Amino acid sequence: MSNAIEDVRRFFGTASKVVGLSNDVATQLLTPHREVRVECNIRMDDGSIGTFVGYRVQHDNSRGPFKGGLRYHPEVDASEVTALASLMTWKTAVVDVPFGGGKGGITVDPKKLSSAELQRLTRKFIDGIHDIIGPKVDIPAPDMNTNPQIMAWIMDHYAMHHGFEPGVVTGKPVDLFGSLGRDAATGRGCMLVAEAWLRDQSRSWQGTKVSVQGFGNVGSWAARLMHDKGATIVAVSDVTGGVRNDAGLDLARLMDHVRSTGGVKGFDGGSATTNEEVLTGACDVVVPAALGGVITSDVAKEMQAKLVVEGANGPTHPEADEVLQARGIVAIPDILANAGGVTCSYFEWVQNIQQFRWDEERVNAELARTMLRAYDAVSKKAKDKQIDLRTAAFVVALERVAAATTMRGL
Ligand code: NAD
Repeated sequence: MSNAIEDVRRFFGTASKVVGLSNDVATQLLTPHREVRVECNIRMDDGSIGTFVGYRVQHDNSRGPFKGGLRYHPEVDASEVTALASLMTWKTAVVDVPFGGGKGGITVDPKKLSSAELQRLTRKFIDGIHDIIGPKVDIPAPDMNTNPQIMAWIMDHYAMHHGFEPGVVTGKPVDLFGSLGRDAATGRGCMLVAEAWLRDQSRSWQGTKVSVQGFGNVGSWAARLMHDKGATIVAVSDVTGGVRNDAGLDLARLMDHVRSTGGVKGFDGGSATTNEEVLTGACDVVVPAALGGVITSDVAKEMQAKLVVEGANGPTHPEADEVLQARGIVAIPDILANAGGVTCSYFEWVQNIQQFRWDEERVNAELARTMLRAYDAVSKKAKDKQIDLRTAAFVVALERVAAATTMRGL
């Protein structure tokens, strides 16, 4: 994702021309508010000292506290975190939750650390950023390779510095101030916006063939919920490999296989396929739900789907987006398609502040209302301005952030 920042700038640039943003406001909206880099030295289990670098980028808070995940990955760097922080600003604005955008991460391969080392690293990182986060300032959440356990350590460590404030972080375990429904929320959001698009085409899930790249939190929930609605899941892949069955994969058995072997590879309910073929093979809807940058121009030229639902952040290069548009393939952009996670994080934050737990039915109903309102706003903007859904989503977001920025003044 080395060009992630360039990609976001290009999508932003296209939308800012439609909005007619002045250069002053555009520059203000593109420049991050604060970028923090912290060195995290920890004692490793073998007695040596491990040195890691962590980042927190706070992009924009004109509409509310900075909000965005923490990613633990060997390829995390300042540029990627900055790009993802700005995507969060547009994402929270598209779904109209009262947050701005931020992102963080540590350059580390967490699979190489023990649980105790991971906990020490997380606490050290919070030592470095606790003064610039908080329930009314900046609220981290899980992202790639971070999970509810890590969020629990963050809540605990923040409390050591500032006292009990569960709203400082979202994506916590349900038994420790987390929200019911959070686990499935991003995949559910993907399903909801895809369903809205199908409805606009006078189609339903019945007879709709779906391929999913990435079978982690987002991909597996999206696949399961689409399947429950009547879709046929024809291909699935993850870091270990892929599997295809044109008659439909048995998802319950596939989940068991993934649980027992650690990946999709070797599942006997279909034939082996590759990660690229999952994107390009025959289907109606494709859900990239793994890494960024996977839909290149070459991939876009081969894709057979009619709809791309961007579960992952930044899966489509701008050049590939042009190819998709020229070929009449519609993309529901990441800032809308995968916004179910941050929307449910907002519900978690609200519940923490109210000290009142919602039941899962209420969470799912509020999520559906928020996602469908956002889809309708974006789809209406696309029709009114005769633009694609990605540009329309950025236009909706830019208009909201620019209005808040202008009203607040310099
Ligand atoms: P995850 O770690 O639970 O799952 C990632 C999946 O991608 C795994 O199945 C993994 O095997 C697969 N994968 C990794 N490398 C791959 C490769 N090279 N080729 C194919 N598959 C590969 O992560 P997640 O939370 O599901 O996040 C997936 C994407 O969705 C990320 O881009 C993330 O930023 C984005 N996202 C997640 C959330 C959320 O709530 N979890 C919200 C918004 C966006």
